[in-house]
Amino acid sequence: MNQMIQTAGRTHYCGRVSEDMVGQQVRLAGWAQKVRDMGGLNFIDLRDRTGIVQVVCEGGEALEASRDAKLEAVVGVVGTVRPRPEGMVNKDRATGAVEVVAEKLEILNTCAPLPFQIDQAPDASEELRLRHRYLQLRHPDMSRNLEVRHRAARAARDYLSDREFLEVETPLLIRTTPEGARDYVVPSRIHHGQFYALPQSPQLYKQILMASGVDRYFQLARCLRDEDLRKDRQPEHTQIDLEMSFVSEEDIYAMVEGLMVEVFAQASGIDLPTPFPRMTYDDAMNKYGSDKPDLRFDDLLHEVDDLVPDCGFGVFESTLADGGTVRCFNARGLGAWSRKQVDELEALARKFGAKGLARAKVGADGFETGIAKFLSADFQSALAERVGAAEGDLLLFVAAPWRTAVESLGQVRLAVAEAADWIPEGVWSLLWVHDFPLFEETPQGGWTACHHMFTLPRPEDEAGLEDDPGAARAQLYDLVCNGVELGSGSIRIHRRELQERVFRIVGMTPEEWEAKFGFFLEALGYGAPPHGGIALGLDRIIMLLTGSPSLREVIAFPKTTLAASPLDHSPGPISDEQLAELNLAVVPRAKDDPEEGTS
Ligand code: ASP
Repeated sequence: MNQMIQTAGRTHYCGRVSEDMVGQQVRLAGWAQKVRDMGGLNFIDLRDRTGIVQVVCEGGEALEASRDAKLEAVVGVVGTVRPRPEGMVNKDRATGAVEVVAEKLEILNTCAPLPFQIDQAPDASEELRLRHRYLQLRHPDMSRNLEVRHRAARAARDYLSDREFLEVETPLLIRTTPEGARDYVVPSRIHHGQFYALPQSPQLYKQILMASGVDRYFQLARCLRDEDLRKDRQPEHTQIDLEMSFVSEEDIYAMVEGLMVEVFAQASGIDLPTPFPRMTYDDAMNKYGSDKPDLRFDDLLHEVDDLVPDCGFGVFESTLADGGTVRCFNARGLGAWSRKQVDELEALARKFGAKGLARAKVGADGFETGIAKFLSADFQSALAERVGAAEGDLLLFVAAPWRTAVESLGQVRLAVAEAADWIPEGVWSLLWVHDFPLFEETPQGGWTACHHMFTLPRPEDEAGLEDDPGAARAQLYDLVCNGVELGSGSIRIHRRELQERVFRIVGMTPEEWEAKFGFFLEALGYGAPPHGGIALGLDRIIMLLTGSPSLREVIAFPKTTLAASPLDHSPGPISDEQLAELNLAVVPRAKDDPEEGTS
């Protein structure tokens, strides 16, 4: 195409043409979102990232040229801004009071027949949207998401830069990271049979930067984890990753609260109050059944163990005798819920390990239905008082080992709130969860780090670490917003000897830790300062800020839940030459491989 309209000389964005420009000549360029041919008159809705303006072609060359403007053709226009005629003002559009009368118009590029119209992109299938991601990204919801993301990233960079942080890039081709997910690996061409891992996080590098005297580090870091396929996970995610030397938990809280205030304000104009509330891990688990409690509604789980001995219901009594616990949740005012509704809650509780969800309704003269007939009058009145039950309430119980009981009932709590519409809109409830255990017991009876192996125990727990690993508490904190974990961090171990003790407790031999983390231990040994940090999930923050239903809506080029990209068809095979160069051979997958066909 012989381009006549100099789009390089574009004077305005479409969405910013306004009434005070009436009479002015403008040069615009964009996509034809809608074309209405009215015979001697052609209207084009011209769209760019900022919005849409109506272009009118009334005659001459411009009208002639506009006849070729198909949907999503790229169009350049030279024209004059004029007010729209009386009665034709479109109040729903920022530019709705004006239109641009085209003097010249040129089709700068054609567009193939569309798989979906841009304004209907949200209704297109996921597969089509991801395959033609460039079309979906033209939708205003998507460009808004990219803008919010940009503003958040910029606010984080500015805030941290103003506080002596250095942005340092850490390598993508590394040894391995201990975040606990599966590594993505990259074969080395030069080193036969050797592989790099892609970083699950820059954890070891940011700690080594502290040993390097960098003092304050941040990075908007890409983290790659080959995790099991779950609903809303992405193989690549971005963290606002930071680390500071010579700090306590309090310093990190203050720094991160300031950072979040700035990010929420700059990205979405949200004013967050500080300080954020804090809750211990034990409280979060016991009251909310989750280490990421949603505080937007204040109905809690209740422990009722002390009432159980006289309750009359054998299942409760035997659970207690076996070392378990009984927890109750009062679904306020939901006594009229159908059996089917409560059965669905029970199915959810079972998914999280509970053997069942006992239920009773609160009637005028005591409990009714479900387990009511087993429960003694004394238990009923004591329980009603404990959980604040009144006529019309629905009481839900799980009797199980502690973790199963609180976690499954915690899920029920969330499901009830969702179904009963208890969660208020527009509320931002941030909090710190802290005082986590350092280790968790594995099903095999060993120990694993609750967060990661570099977390410092509380000073008072250090001496007895080996005697009772389960009792040690960690200097570890999570930032939670509306029931979503936004980030995790800790004060780190900075002395080699303590780090080796922790490696040993989680079951590593000296040979293993030397092979995997020898370089890191060596760095600690050369005068690493006390330090700590955190990583905040940028994608999740943007998902919350934009109210998006999925991470895929806030990442420009995401993968499907099968970790594939319909856009570039990755992953894909490589050529025999590439394989030969890497000294690799692909072994055909066995027919009975359970993962056959999942990629
Ligand atoms: N590297 C950790 C993570 O990705 C965060 C941190 O401890 O700073 O969860």
